[in-house]
Amino acid sequence: MRIGFIGLGVMGAPMAGHLTAGGNTLVTCLNRSPLPEGLVATVAQNPCAVARDSDIVILMLPDTPDVERVLMGADGVIAGLNPGTLVIDMSTISPIATAQFAEAVRAAGGSYLDAPVSGGEVGAKAGSLTIMVGGAEEDFARALPLFQPMGKNITLVGTANGAGQICKLANQIIVALNIEAVAEALVFASKAGCDPARVRQALMGGFAASRILEVHGERMIARSFDPGFRIRLHQKDLALALSSARELGVALPNTATAQELMNSCSAKGLRDADHSALVQALESMADHALSGG
Ligand code: NAD
Repeated sequence: MRIGFIGLGVMGAPMAGHLTAGGNTLVTCLNRSPLPEGLVATVAQNPCAVARDSDIVILMLPDTPDVERVLMGADGVIAGLNPGTLVIDMSTISPIATAQFAEAVRAAGGSYLDAPVSGGEVGAKAGSLTIMVGGAEEDFARALPLFQPMGKNITLVGTANGAGQICKLANQIIVALNIEAVAEALVFASKAGCDPARVRQALMGGFAASRILEVHGERMIARSFDPGFRIRLHQKDLALALSSARELGVALPNTATAQELMNSCSAKGLRDADHSALVQALESMADHALSGG
């Protein structure tokens, strides 16, 4: 199959690699970054030329305006869409804009899936991503052989476009609030005089055990804040959750608080730190650092 793949960054490059390893031919276009080392692909002039040359087009771009530009621009994917082409957006973007993009692709004779992922760079490299999909069942069935080399837990969340993006934002809410809970508990115990490493070790055997306590708790104690998943990307995702919630009439009080703590980290120059660095906002409020400061 000829697959157009636009957005060969941290996540997209290894994901595209799994598709070529499966015998598919890759077509892409680049903006500032060169073709990632080791990836075999034809480089087209622009997204329009990528679409003209592909049966399926996959996007893995940073944010909503990037997807809008690549899809709807004068030399965008829609301008070059062949009848019946399936467009799969695997970026994390606005669920509301997603419904509009899907409508525009359908009006041009194509079909659309939103399929954001969770699992980070490690999951992208290992082909073990969680893939959350919104769109028609027949499009999901068509895309499944391409999802399988990239992911392990692949779910059609709903048949409306945007369902995958909503599910991804729910994931980001749970992760942010868990990081906040772990950070708050460790700062509390540490200021009371307990060794946070021993507190984490004890809690890992009880009801409060979690993947976040294990991985991010360890990072907080070891002061290991190299990303991982960057604060600025999590801020983007929480902003999408909060704006969608406002449209839906849903209150997300603790998501709003977590976002404020991320904002505080950002103001302290931690935009590109791992999201476990959220603990530093709480340390500052408690005037106490886990490292004993
Ligand atoms: P990234 O910034 O590393 O990669 C984005 C790529 O898109 C870059 O290579 C950039 O050059 C390319 N690009 C941007 N505009 C383009 C254009 N007009 N034409 C061609 N290429 C263009 O970002 P990433 O970390 O790979 O994340 C991609 C998406 O996946 C984001 O929506 C992010 O929120 C989501 N995500 C990231 C992670 C993670 O751990 N990094 C995990 C899950 C989901």
